[in-house]
Amino acid sequence: MVSEYVGEHETRDINDQVDRILRDLGNPEPPLSLAQVRELLRLDLKYYSSTDPGHLQEIKHRLVMAGKQIIARPGLVLDVIKKANLSALWVPDTKRILIDSDVPKPKHRWIEGHEISHGVIPWHEEFLFGDNRNTLSPACDAIIEAEANYGAGRLLFIGGRFGSEARDTALSFDSIRGLAKQYGNTITSTLWRIVEEREPERAVFGMISAHPRHPEIGKGEDGDICYFIRSQRFRDQFSNVRPEEVYALIDKHASCRKSGPVVDAQDALVDADGETYEFRIESFSNSYALLTYGVCSDKAPLVCTI
Ligand SMILES: [Zn+2]
Repeated sequence: MVSEYVGEHETRDINDQVDRILRDLGNPEPPLSLAQVRELLRLDLKYYSSTDPGHLQEIKHRLVMAGKQIIARPGLVLDVIKKANLSALWVPDTKRILIDSDVPKPKHRWIEGHEISHGVIPWHEEFLFGDNRNTLSPACDAIIEAEANYGAGRLLFIGGRFGSEARDTALSFDSIRGLAKQYGNTITSTLWRIVEEREPERAVFGMISAHPRHPEIGKGEDGDICYFIRSQRFRDQFSNVRPEEVYALIDKHASCRKSGPVVDAQDALVDADGETYEFRIESFSNSYALLTYGVCSDKAPLVCTI
């Protein structure tokens, strides 16, 4: 899944909404307390279990009570939850976030941030969102979902604070792990934010994928590549580079280590103008997925072939 582009106006509006929340909370230090955000916004959080039919009946009841959009078709909502493998729902009428308790706990924080964003982004108001476990929602418009993910990132990484702090440290998996701990977020979401926010004017990519030597690690339902993340400069300059091309580089340099550092390499990518640039590429396996970033270091020296 390639991360979608969030428009300039939308970015500004979302930043304003998130900054207002942070201001109302007294500009808190990381990690952000989502319980405090819920209290401020008067949001309600409930868990359900998609594997327990009893709980689904309870949700059905709640949803009948909750949303006028779905009163007429409560059965349909249950179908959607079961078939689309939903991990969360935002119910606007009651300002309620529903999270599937079967989703691994470390993912709850991001999901909650994502659903809160649906709740505070004004033009998302009329939607009832069901968010899919793997993609955070193919059923919904991809741009709307990208906006909710962007909002989640801005919220959980305390507005503009993360970007400036990340710029003060060298890009490495050590710094990503340190920032993940400091902000109380996963290494995956921290990698995502660091690729997009640390140096937007430098070509940087990130990838969450399968481990080429151990495909049982990180292989998603859609194949080897789960997410392809790009800085603004990478989007502009390397718009021709497909995720498969980046995965091929990872495959080329991957060691057999199951966990820890897997790739530490220099390799080249060709930009949209046909120029070749060097990238420093590092991958790290956390045993659930392979996390990779690549930073453009310089134009590759011309190789004389005569
Ligand atoms: Zn969503």
